[in-house]
This record gives sequence, C-alpha cells and structure tokens, in this order.
Amino acid sequence: MEKIKMTTPLVEMDGDEMTRILWAMIKDKLILPFVDLKTEYYDLGLLHRNETKDQVTVDAANATKKYGVAVKCATITPNKQRMEEYPQLTEMWKSPNGTIRSILDGTVFRTPICIDAIQPVVKNWKKPITIARHAYGDVYKSVDFVTTQPGTCTMTFQGEDGEEQSVVVQKVDGPAVWQGAHNKDQSIRSFARACFQYAVDTRQDLWFSTKDTIAKVYDGEFKKIFEEEFEGYQAKFQELGITYFYTLIDDAVARVIRSEGGYIWACKNYDGDVMSDMVSTAFGSLAMMTSVLVAPDGTTEYEAAHGTVTRHYYRHLKGEKTSTNPMATIFAWSGALRKRGELDGLPDLSAFAGKLEQACFDTLNAGIMTKDLVGLVEPGFQAQAVDSEAFLDAIAQRLA
Ligand code: NAP
Ligand code: MG
Repeated sequence: MEKIKMTTPLVEMDGDEMTRILWAMIKDKLILPFVDLKTEYYDLGLLHRNETKDQVTVDAANATKKYGVAVKCATITPNKQRMEEYPQLTEMWKSPNGTIRSILDGTVFRTPICIDAIQPVVKNWKKPITIARHAYGDVYKSVDFVTTQPGTCTMTFQGEDGEEQSVVVQKVDGPAVWQGAHNKDQSIRSFARACFQYAVDTRQDLWFSTKDTIAKVYDGEFKKIFEEEFEGYQAKFQELGITYFYTLIDDAVARVIRSEGGYIWACKNYDGDVMSDMVSTAFGSLAMMTSVLVAPDGTTEYEAAHGTVTRHYYRHLKGEKTSTNPMATIFAWSGALRKRGELDGLPDLSAFAGKLEQACFDTLNAGIMTKDLVGLVEPGFQAQAVDSEAFLDAIAQRLA
C-alpha cells in the first residue's frame, strides 16, 4: 500500500509521562504505517525544556506561526513538588500552554468526543458543544482590597498624555471589599476573530453571551467588538448557512440546556472557566475532550484537554500495563492532519483523518475501550476494558 504524501510539515510537540508513551504508540501504530509523515519535531518534555532554558517552547510556537498547524502532547507544568521530583530543574518553568497561547495570541476551544454508548447527562444533547473561553483579563488580572472604615472609593485612569478619567465606585458607611478589573480591546478583538474563524472552519453556529444589561459599559464593549468583527465574516457565514447569535448569559444557559448541541459557545474568561467544567462533566470524561488553540490569523494547535496522567505513568514505569485512554490524543493528531490536508489541498490526507476517527468510533462501538470509559457506558451495552496497547491495536486493525 502506498503511503499518503504530505507537502508541508506539521509542527510536532512531544510531551511528558504517560501521554509521551501514548504519543509514540499512536504514531507507530496508527499514523506511520499509512502516512508519509512530515513533521518538524520539538521535544517539549520537561527535561529538554530545562536544557534549552525553555527556548524549545518558544521555537515550537514560532514554528507553528510559520507552518500554521501544530499537534501537541500534554506536558508537565512544574510546581514545587515537581522541583523536588526533578532536582536538575534550574527554574520553575512556566506552563508551555500559557507560553504558546501568548505567542500565538490564541483562544482555546474545547470539544467533547461523543459516542452512542456514553450518553450525556443532559438527555437532549445530541451533538457536541464547543466552549470557547477568552483567556485574558477580567477577574483573573484584577486587583482587590478590603477597607475597614466609612469612606469613598474612586477609580482613576491616567492617560500617557496626562489626561485623567475618574469615577466614584461607591461611598460606604462601614467595612467593604473592592475589586478593579480590566480587559483590552485588542485581546477582545483577537478572541472575537478566533471565534468567527473557528465557526467558519468547523461550519458551526457561534453563540456569544455576556451580561451587558448589568455591565453596560464593560460587557457592552465585548458585545460591540464582536459585532464589529462579525462584519468581516458575515458574507462567509451566509455562504455556509451558519449564524452568529448574541444573547444574555442567563438566557444562554437556559438555551444550552434545552438545545441539541452542535454549536460553539463563546464565553468571557470567568464564564468560560465555569461553563467548560459544567459542559465537559455533563458530556462524560476529560479523557474524551479535545482542545484546539486558534489564533486570529487561523493558526491552529491541536491537543488533548487532559494532563500527562502521572499516576498511570508511575504504574507503567513499574512494568504494569495501563489502560490509559488515548482518544483525545489521537483526535489531536487527526485534527491536525485534517487541517494540514485542507490547507495544502491534499484530500487524501484529510480523508485519512476521518478514517482514523471512524476506526476509533468503530472500536468503541464494538465495546472495546479503556477502563475509564467502561464505567460510563449505558446499561445493557457490553463493554470490555483493555489496556492502551490492545486498544490501539484494535483501532489499527480496523483502520487497515
Ligand atoms: P491528568 O493528567 O489529566 O490526570 C488526572 C486523572 O484523570 C488521572 O490520574 C486519571 O485518573 C484521569 N485521566 C486523565 N486523563 C486520562 C486518560 N487519558 N485516560 C485515563 N484516565 C485519565 O491531571 P493531573 O494529574 O492533575 O496532572 C498531571 C500533569 O499534567 C501535571 O504535571 C500537569 O501540569 C499536567 N497537565 C498538563 C496539561 C496540558 O499539557 N495540556 C493539562 C493539564 C495538566 P485515575 O488515576 O483515577 O485513573
Ligand atoms: Mg476551571
């Protein structure tokens, strides 16, 4: 069988622990036998990040900008405990995802992988719901303090030209708590563009919600910028038959619960934090959740939403076979290959991505799955737990 050709390399970011083990197995069993894989490889494993003083992460992000598509394995974000576990670390390196996100100025879209055997808690959800979370500002970059006596709080902005703008926040007659939050027009605009672009790329409706009836100026600015940016996408939306829909956050929550799914829900930073946990839990499992970082210019990085699955890795090191779910990592690969195929005009490559995903679904539908999923299937569905390697072999067999 002739392998499928690629023309432009995919940026490949390797990672840590159990997901690094799965990464190599996925390539060996599911991709290399079928695709003449071209990648530009960056090792984002913790020790290599340390050796390069994290330059490798920056290089990988810049390569992603250059080529347009990347696929990333989960990586360790060092904390105090990791500094003890890896004494050779010279610094508590920052989260690679954070570094890449700020270089690409990207927005993260999270989508559940749905199968018939695992029904969402919300019975009427038939299709996945993608959450797009704005990743800058608001309460996450706010300042706050407590005061103990009666008095007045004001908020003042000092322009570089010396001009001042000031408002009274509140006059209080006793102890109080205060908060100052901000966002930047440029960041909101990038968020809006990434959302419209992703809606076009995935041919799905886009919903956006804020509380602009209460935060008239603050959330009103988000609404206004989205409307302005939509003008550039309106024709494309019309052509594809998709819609942009703005509504209040409380109305959105009610509509989401009653909906069938199948759209993107764009949320401000805090709303996205809360709603993405609600939606992912209701759909089933973090091991079945993909994550895509999209830059306003369309540059895209695919990954799994879960971490490096440390507990399984330590069992793997002891020589045990683990039943770690590789679905989200496989779908990161298929997403990246499909996108590469679309950008380079290689329909065979995009079709391969579809076949790979179908082989995964066929395997799960046959009742062959990893341990984490067996406990989630509908009553009456016959499921058998296998280890990761056997699961990948079962997929490879169907794919061939
Ligand atoms: P985690 O790796 O997502 O794992 C937490 C637990 O969830 C696992 O112990 C496992 O439960 C279950 N789980 C997650 N993914 C699974 C899969 N594919 N198959 C089966 N079970 C799965 O989160 P964590 O333990 O909090 O973090 C571990 C490391 O990952 C940390 O160093 C963190 O910095 C990093 N991390 C990286 C990313 C990223 O790169 N995008 C994201 C999050 C965390 P059981 O043990 O009960 O089976
Ligand atoms: Mg959260």
